[in-house]
Amino acid sequence: MPFRKKIIIFVVLALAGFLILLYSSFIFRIETDQTLYQYEINILLYVSISLFIVVLVLVGRLMKAFGKARQSLQDLQKFKLAVDNASDCISITDKDGIILYVNHGMEKITGFKPEEVLGKKIGSKDLWGGNMSLEFYQKLWTAVKTKKQKFSVEFNNHRKNGEEFVAAVSISPILDEAGEVKFFVSIDRDITVAKRIDLVKTEFVSLASHQLRTPLTSVKWHAEMLLAGDAGSLSKDQRDFAQEIYNSNERMIDLVDSLLDVSRLDLGTLKVKGLPTNISESIKDLIKDIRPLMTKKKVKLIEKYDQPLPIIELDKRLFFVIIQNLLTNAIKYSKTGGEVVLEIKCEGTANVLIKVADKGCGIPIKDQARVFDKLFRADNARKIEPDGNGLGLYIVNSIVKQCQGKFWFETKENVGSTFYISLPIKLSKK
Ligand code: ADP
Repeated sequence: MPFRKKIIIFVVLALAGFLILLYSSFIFRIETDQTLYQYEINILLYVSISLFIVVLVLVGRLMKAFGKARQSLQDLQKFKLAVDNASDCISITDKDGIILYVNHGMEKITGFKPEEVLGKKIGSKDLWGGNMSLEFYQKLWTAVKTKKQKFSVEFNNHRKNGEEFVAAVSISPILDEAGEVKFFVSIDRDITVAKRIDLVKTEFVSLASHQLRTPLTSVKWHAEMLLAGDAGSLSKDQRDFAQEIYNSNERMIDLVDSLLDVSRLDLGTLKVKGLPTNISESIKDLIKDIRPLMTKKKVKLIEKYDQPLPIIELDKRLFFVIIQNLLTNAIKYSKTGGEVVLEIKCEGTANVLIKVADKGCGIPIKDQARVFDKLFRADNARKIEPDGNGLGLYIVNSIVKQCQGKFWFETKENVGSTFYISLPIKLSKK
């Protein structure tokens, strides 16, 4: 029989026994000295019954509350068991980063037992942290403690035995009713193996792209020679076929170049060579390159440059890559006969702002957060231009970061997009 039922039966029996005892004592008095009147007995009866009902109701409520508390306790135990045994490392710290709780996952990842870390500062060198730069930790604390924001990042950490590992960490501040930080919850996942596999894949892409570049260049030369009539004059069909070979090969070269850039960026082997550059001159060469696309789409390019533009410290090839990607996109995703604006102006004495605006298809709200992701293409863009690879904006974003600049955009579906790049005139030494 459940515990709750047992208690109810016990209380009811005890109460009933008590009332029977009370009642019989009155009967006894009536039988012995006749001093008790009938109305007294009735009142006593009513009071006893009312009391009995009240006690019954109270006991029922008490049992209900007791049942709920027991259920909550069971839920809490289940929840604790789940957190304790989760495969990711879960830790709770106070607002100064002192460890209050860690689960078993932490021991699996770092090698430290919970009792070795409780009461110590999370992320310290004598535990599994302390390998990142001072600025990095400052940024982290500003985000979670001052701005009270979630912070997700990859950490290079070390295990108890000194072995290095990479963890994907997400730290969330937990606030009290007054909005003040009460404590922090951190979830760490060991991504060392995934990172290694990723590296091998990137190295493979890099190698394959290098190997592909040579035959593609050879195809390009020979197609050019055929088109130039070096092997004799061509019939119309022969010329059309050779032109098709040339165009497809150009698309392939673009893709291979993008893959090479992506692998270099991912491997960290793409070095920024900042040399004093006249951007007006560089832009002229670049526009020459994309003129055929503009003609094909009948798009008009409006150029607005501050005069004179400063000489800026720039990696000319990388600058070419970013502007070419933005202009090509603006043209590709514009309507035929549309208009694209390229604006370059000084922002004080420290930065140059580059703006590429179009009145094309825009980026749907649901896709805006993903357009800097590798290989991502929005559905509306796929319909307009089936031949994209979704690598351009990833490359631009990574290069701009390496050039110590900022990259952002404004867009509205079916209205248009404006992409902005702010670049420093002088690169700071790292
Ligand atoms: P690709 O253009 O080859 O698809 P990108 O990396 O350059 O790849 O762009 C990623 C996606 O961002 C595009 O597929 C498109 O959905 C969106 N996008 C980029 N530029 C524009 C633009 N100017 N107008 C509308 N959508 C754009």
